[in-house]
Amino acid sequence: MPDVNRGDEAPRHTSGVCDGISADLRLTARAANPAGTVVEVRGVRIGGPEVVIIAGPCAVESEAQLLAAARAVKAGGASVLRGGAFKPRTSPYSFRGLELEGLRLLALARAETGLPIVTEVMDARHLPAVADCADILQVGSRNMQNFTLLEEVGRSGMPVLLKRGMSATLAEYLQAAEYICAAGNTQVILCERGIRTFETSTRNTLDLNAVPMLHRETHLPVLVDPSHGTGHAWMVPALASAAVAAGADGLLIEVHCDPGAALSDGVNSLTPDRFRQMVQQVARVAAAVGRAIL
Ligand code: PEP
Ligand code: MN
Repeated sequence: MPDVNRGDEAPRHTSGVCDGISADLRLTARAANPAGTVVEVRGVRIGGPEVVIIAGPCAVESEAQLLAAARAVKAGGASVLRGGAFKPRTSPYSFRGLELEGLRLLALARAETGLPIVTEVMDARHLPAVADCADILQVGSRNMQNFTLLEEVGRSGMPVLLKRGMSATLAEYLQAAEYICAAGNTQVILCERGIRTFETSTRNTLDLNAVPMLHRETHLPVLVDPSHGTGHAWMVPALASAAVAAGADGLLIEVHCDPGAALSDGVNSLTPDRFRQMVQQVARVAAAVGRAIL
């Protein structure tokens, strides 16, 4: 059946200039796997009919902080735990993560909750350690065009969550995904996380155009991260709902039990209560578009 949200019946090129994504996408183009790729991690299927919620703190700060957040997001409806052990920070003087100790704590949180782990790998030198702990390797916005890192995570064969560069076009984004696939790994999950525009009231401009466009052009699952996409915790539920209405396969949400005390991104982190309410709201939107929360 044609998918109305993917524009299956619309002409592919209509306006001349803004005519979709034009790039050499041998492995990532939808035609390479018309049914769509499902990435399965410890029984969680990302890219299937259900909407997957990935949640957790921006950074792993301590055992108590991570375990409290992990229990809260599990209780609130998440099926994957996020948390940065290696943090890319604009200032070298900001908290940059617990690194190897952070990885150890993530493994502990998985052992306790059973939630699979996604965590960022910032540098190919850290890949063996991160791959040892993570179920999904995150490549962050700032590294979207780190081509040697893309090839390394491709060679790892592990699921990769590739975030969109903050100034990357969708053509550049899919070519970055193509690097991973060309290294032998099509277990790639895309994530729109906001782009830089002239707007200053929000941290980024969440480009929800990306969701139907990526679904039309590629077979890879598409997530949305409204936490970094807005930079305001109060906006996250609205944009999470909008993302699911637009067809997102899942959400990446930052949650902290005490956002005011967070060492990074407290300003866009939901409390466990707000997270739980957000999931309930998103579940109603998912039902309206014929989907359910995993
Ligand atoms: C993150 O999700 O932890 C993160 C650093 O996001 P981004 O790479 O999108 O800025
Ligand atoms: Mn963050």
